[in-house]
Amino acid sequence: MKAAYENDNIFAKILRGDIPCHKVYEDDDAIAFMDVMPQSEGHVLVVPKAASRNLLDADPGILATIAPLLQKLAIAAKSAFGADGISLMQFNEGAGGQTVFHLHFHIIPRYDGVPLQAHGRGMEDPDVLSANAEKLRAALAA
Ligand code: 5GP
Repeated sequence: MKAAYENDNIFAKILRGDIPCHKVYEDDDAIAFMDVMPQSEGHVLVVPKAASRNLLDADPGILATIAPLLQKLAIAAKSAFGADGISLMQFNEGAGGQTVFHLHFHIIPRYDGVPLQAHGRGMEDPDVLSANAEKLRAALAA
C-alpha cells in the first residue's frame, strides 16, 4: 500500500513556522535552511512547500520549479564555503535512507580529501549554523 503524507513531520512544522530553522532562502514554492546535523560544513536543505513525501509522489511541476533553485543554492554554497565540489542527495522512503517524510534535497559542500560525516551524526552548535546561514545568504545576494 502507498504510504500517505503526514502533516506532523518535522519539515511540515518548519514550513508552518511551528518550529524554528536557520533559514537561508524562501520564495512562494520553496524554503532552504541549514541541516541541524550537517554531513559537512555548509550542508543545506532545499524543501518544496507543496506536500509530498518524496520524489515518488511529487508533482512533476514542483520538481521543475525546484531544479533551478537547487542549482542556485549549489553555486552559492560552493562559493560561500570555499568548497571543491557539491554533492546533491535525495532519499526516498526508509529503505532509500529517508528519515523525514517531506520531499527535500540535500546540498552538501565537499572538500578534497574530506569524507562525509555520518547521516544524522549529532547536532551542530546553533551559532555555527547561524553563521553558515549568514554566509550562504550573502553568497546568494552577491
Ligand atoms: P533524510 O534522511 O530524510 O533525507 O534527511 C533528513 C535530514 O533532516 C537529516 O540530514 C537531518 O539531519 C535533518 N533534520 C532532522 N531534523 C531536523 C530539524 O529539526 N531541523 C533541521 N534543520 N534539519 C533536521
